Amino acid sequence: MKKKGLYGFLKLFHEQAQVAGWPVVEITRATIKNGYHLPHVDFVTKVRQCRCCGSALHVQKSKKRIVSTMETGTIQVREIRKVCSADSFHPVETSGILAQMVPAGQRYGYDLIVAVGMARYLRNMQRQEIRAELLREKNVSGN
Ligand SMILES: [Zn+2]
Repeated sequence: MKKKGLYGFLKLFHEQAQVAGWPVVEITRATIKNGYHLPHVDFVTKVRQCRCCGSALHVQKSKKRIVSTMETGTIQVREIRKVCSADSFHPVETSGILAQMVPAGQRYGYDLIVAVGMARYLRNMQRQEIRAELLREKNVSGN
């Protein structure tokens, strides 16, 4: 995966916020407001119409979870799911970007899983050392 760094993440975040229909004021507030010093980010699918019948999609529900990736550090994400307004059995649309970053329902990003694996087996680091380095350099917290 290509590393985009903080700039890439902020750009991605602003794109997502625009898809969610937030005014600029809301975007700024969301990046500052954080319960445990975690940025909150909404992930919304860019798809606007049902892929089966072309009907409009509406928001079904949102799910929050805390995720950690090398690219973003530890953040709270809210995944907003959309369903067909005509037939609820048509496929649910979710954010493709989030799915590329973190396995479904999981806490740790693909890039983080790879980095931790490499640190353990190539650099012979212990879990505690890896944890300290990630927190120090990437603002990633976790087990
Ligand atoms: Zn449909």
